[in-house]
Amino acid sequence: MSNFQNQFSRRKFLAIAGTGAATSILLKGCGGNTPETTTNVPVTTNASGDVETTKAKLGYIPIVESAPMLIAKEKGFFAKYGMTDVEISKQANWGAARDNVEIGSEGGGIDGGQWQMPMPYLISMGKITKGNKKIPMYVLAQLNTHGNGIAIAGKHKGKKVGLNLNDSGGYIQKLKADGKKFIAAHTFPQANQDFWIRYWLAAGGVNPDTDIELLTVPSAQTVANMKTGTMDAFSTGDPWPYRIVADKTGFMSALTAEVWKNHPEEYLAMRADWVDKHPKATKAILKGLMEAQQWCDNFDNRKEMAEIFARREYFNVPVNVLEPPFFGKYDMGDGRIIDDRSMAALYWKDEKGSVSYPYKSHDLWFLTESVRWGFLPVETLDTAKEMIDKVNREDIWKEAATEAGIVAADIPSSTSRGVEKFFDGIEFDPENPKAYLQSLKIKKVSI
Ligand code: CA
Repeated sequence: MSNFQNQFSRRKFLAIAGTGAATSILLKGCGGNTPETTTNVPVTTNASGDVETTKAKLGYIPIVESAPMLIAKEKGFFAKYGMTDVEISKQANWGAARDNVEIGSEGGGIDGGQWQMPMPYLISMGKITKGNKKIPMYVLAQLNTHGNGIAIAGKHKGKKVGLNLNDSGGYIQKLKADGKKFIAAHTFPQANQDFWIRYWLAAGGVNPDTDIELLTVPSAQTVANMKTGTMDAFSTGDPWPYRIVADKTGFMSALTAEVWKNHPEEYLAMRADWVDKHPKATKAILKGLMEAQQWCDNFDNRKEMAEIFARREYFNVPVNVLEPPFFGKYDMGDGRIIDDRSMAALYWKDEKGSVSYPYKSHDLWFLTESVRWGFLPVETLDTAKEMIDKVNREDIWKEAATEAGIVAADIPSSTSRGVEKFFDGIEFDPENPKAYLQSLKIKKVSI
């Protein structure tokens, strides 16, 4: 049976069975700039007998993307919907998260958790797994938008290495000509943070494959190397970029919120076999996550959020480093100050609508960008829709949202967010990814 048939029969079953009144707690959405208190909703615990299991093990990386998962655990939102034994497991790095989802919780690993895109696709396709084993995964929700940036070592201050690199007069290309090739790092290849720095460089006329060295390096090592002057740039999630400024190691050239406002960032994805076996538990996890995302988007809660994440077991970073970015306050370290809550990491809603809902059009951008840089063959585009329909389970998100009583206005009616626009004027029309690739000057694919 195809996923769509599956989804249809499940929907039909739900319609017949009706949604339990106990689960229909009205959760009013709150926009990024107009926080409303959602914390005082009366707790009506979903009977725990209503889920196939109360346990799940979810991996996270200690960056702001993980916030909804940590808050769902910390504030009891998973437990509220019957998932009383969700374990949130800190992963040493993205490679470790990938290894742990390969073995699953039964083998001592994880059932799913936080992912950069398109990692769930690469794992499903067997592109980054041991022996290229295909481990089908489902994308269930987006965790956040924004909260990422590109940090530059202090020695490049005053060289106009800012959002628009064209202003720097070919500074990075000159470094190459002088035998001092610019060295940049991200934390995992062929995913978000690699894409963000590539997009920014290429928009400024710098070819990330030939004009610089672009490497996968652990965060702590990257920062140490930036201090000693052997690393020039780092593309990563908060609190790292802001920490680099706070430590006076460097400055920030760009926030991802500037490169692509309201961009897709990281996702909750789980092993498909776990979800297929535990459909109710999956929806309970999603309901807890959605409530956490609304809690996170209430700016009245953000001071407390920074205090929670500062703790040793979570990020182990001082509160004063965590707090300003949560309020959209970025001292870029080069004289530029950003103070705009719509630029902060957002979890439930942004100016374009839902953050939590996993738009299929965004998955298509990540696959298209993979084609742009030669990470996936150009033929990927011919079968992308089919692949996305298998991996992206926006249908489960919608079922969970409806059951949780999320207002209809907060549930997108289309799987496409439509045409996306980048800071350099480039547009991505999900109806025509080839035209997007053709419009880009710097790319690896011939199209
Ligand atoms: Ca990220």
